[in-house]
Amino acid sequence: MQIDIKKEVAALTAETIATRRDIHAHPELGFHEFRTGKLVETRLKALGLRVRRCADPGVIGVLEGGKPGKTVMLRAELDALPLTEKNDLPFCSQNPGVMHACGHDCHAAIQLSVAKILTAHREELPGTVVFLFQPNEEDIGAPQMIAEGALKDPRPDAIFDMHVWSPIPIGKVGMVSGPDCASSYYFKLTIHGKGTAAYIPDQGISPIDAAGHVLNAINAMQTLEYSTLNQPTLITVGTIHAGDYMINIPDDLTMEGSIRCLHSNEKAVHERFTELVTAVCTACRCSCDVDITCGNNMLENDPDLYSMAHSVASEVVGKENITDKGVREMGGDDLAEFFREGIPGIYYLAGMGNPAKHTTAPHHSRNFRVDEDVLDLGVELQTRMTLRYLGAI
Ligand SMILES: [Zn+2]
Ligand SMILES: [Zn+2]
Repeated sequence: MQIDIKKEVAALTAETIATRRDIHAHPELGFHEFRTGKLVETRLKALGLRVRRCADPGVIGVLEGGKPGKTVMLRAELDALPLTEKNDLPFCSQNPGVMHACGHDCHAAIQLSVAKILTAHREELPGTVVFLFQPNEEDIGAPQMIAEGALKDPRPDAIFDMHVWSPIPIGKVGMVSGPDCASSYYFKLTIHGKGTAAYIPDQGISPIDAAGHVLNAINAMQTLEYSTLNQPTLITVGTIHAGDYMINIPDDLTMEGSIRCLHSNEKAVHERFTELVTAVCTACRCSCDVDITCGNNMLENDPDLYSMAHSVASEVVGKENITDKGVREMGGDDLAEFFREGIPGIYYLAGMGNPAKHTTAPHHSRNFRVDEDVLDLGVELQTRMTLRYLGAI
């Protein structure tokens, strides 16, 4: 295919930035991205793509090329976060208490520009490109899209996802092969003791005392039972609730937290956790209900797609600017749910940390900012990877 990608990306720079700023100024929380979804839907329809709603306000646009070939899906998220923006920019959030503090405004804008470029070459395109705009990434929207048929009609052969990333400097691209983002399961423990008055503790059983032993036990389990390097495992407690009167011992206590694994042996970790907590509570004369539910699964990149993505990104930013440092993380991304449906994929990071532009604040912080130079880079990377995968360039 004859295409000058850099030139076509540059021709859309102003539009990509304007779209991103528009979305940034009008952030919406997960599953409430109605304005953003409408904007995306309108743009995709204007390009003449086959467009449908999926997990409304989620949107899917399908571009069928003029030649036969494989199908690739690109994903962008739509949702913002429940934060009050602390930046002083002309396009700051106009919705109090809601802010695009993860860069999903960039992803939606980038993906619309990719769609525009590829649609302009529709006749020569060998294969199909599915543009998926997902609601509620921050709180697991992917399963809803899958349940509503996001991976059917057509079923993609591969999925590409790029995330702008402030901890990595602008101009660098981060990617790894294999395990990338940890699985995250949520636990809720209900420890049952026996309430009594504080002056006659022997008449009851304290679930609070048991909880203290449980805390020590799970901290020891996490640090001593798994190799930090080979089986990264993180167990953290987020809430503990018990009692309502300072001179009583309560009947019950609840404790909630998360178990994160950056390895595929998570089931054994959950079983060991349940066994340990139950045994400690029993030793403390309490009983315990253990409830573990899936937040998101581990995100694992396909080695072949990693090689392809690495070679394409090297052409764009230079091999020396591809890094694996700071890429793997104990946080999760629900992109993993699409991969688990048996579709290989690659998730990679476009660095945009730039001290001169004050864009090094962490994701999900109120002063999170974006070096907009990353927008063109994102459009180029996703366009180039799509065309390479389809064998067009
Ligand atoms: Zn986020
Ligand atoms: Zn994000």
